[in-house]
Amino acid sequence: MHRAQRRVLILGGSSEGFALAERLAREPSLYVISSLAGRTRTRRMPVGEMRLGGFGGPDGLKTYLADEAIAAVIDATHPFARNMTHNAAKAAAAAAVPIVHCWRPEWRRGTRDRWIEVDTMTEAATAIPDGASPTFLTTGRTDLAAFAGRSDIRFLARVIEPIRPEAPNDVWPAQLAFIYARGPFRYDGERELLESRGVRCIVTKNSGGSAARAKLDAARDIGLPVVMVRRPPKPAGRHVATADEAVDWLFRILGDGIPPVADTRAL
Ligand code: NAP
Repeated sequence: MHRAQRRVLILGGSSEGFALAERLAREPSLYVISSLAGRTRTRRMPVGEMRLGGFGGPDGLKTYLADEAIAAVIDATHPFARNMTHNAAKAAAAAAVPIVHCWRPEWRRGTRDRWIEVDTMTEAATAIPDGASPTFLTTGRTDLAAFAGRSDIRFLARVIEPIRPEAPNDVWPAQLAFIYARGPFRYDGERELLESRGVRCIVTKNSGGSAARAKLDAARDIGLPVVMVRRPPKPAGRHVATADEAVDWLFRILGDGIPPVADTRAL
């Protein structure tokens, strides 16, 4: 690292996080560190330095920001990574380091969509219509336990890699099969999957973005109900919707040496 470089921490876990690392690592005035939770055994590697694993709550992150002389934080975690987002907001405020939260826009319901919108995974489990077997779960491994009470439903869960319950009280649905795949997913493949498996309902989080959107388009065209879990509340503070906007924010905050995205757009 050059002594004059400003150190930027990207809290990753989303496609925006990888795009930001790639874009910012090209700036000679910046030194970019991407932080990942390290939950999956196989992972995409960000451009630039990477660190893995939690910081030990807001206090741990506050200490890290000071020790590593971080000049700015971009929270590009997934919109459902509630703990990390709130920890980051608290730690950055305590360490007086500027932070922006980058959350892509939510998916919006169209006129032909059959969405049942709920606020929690528990509500999602209750909202699955009776007899909707199999129900396709794309909620991620940490949310499987919420569906254990629906012993009347067969579930098909899509996860990135083979998993097993992590805690003794992590009880999964009795009728559960897995599909292993990592996005992005395309319309033709999603439609084929839903039709060939005879899926009757989908449960998903309102993650937004294009990589996981195709299943909603296929569900709409087949006429399937989708139980859509709304996003958790955002922390107060500065929010942007795209990686480009986050780069513009960083340029304004750091003030020198970084050309605005409009001049160099190459993401
Ligand atoms: P979470 O509940 O917000 O995070 C739990 C703990 O994991 C945090 O308190 C933090 O530990 C650690 N952590 C999370 N993100 C981290 C990061 N980028 N760098 C370092 N530590 C991190 O998050 P989650 O829902 O378990 O998700 C874990 C990761 O997977 C996130 O980075 C997220 O972006 C990504 N992801 C999540 C989802 C989802 O639906 N939740 C979907 C796709 C990707 P400490 O408190 O010890 O710092």
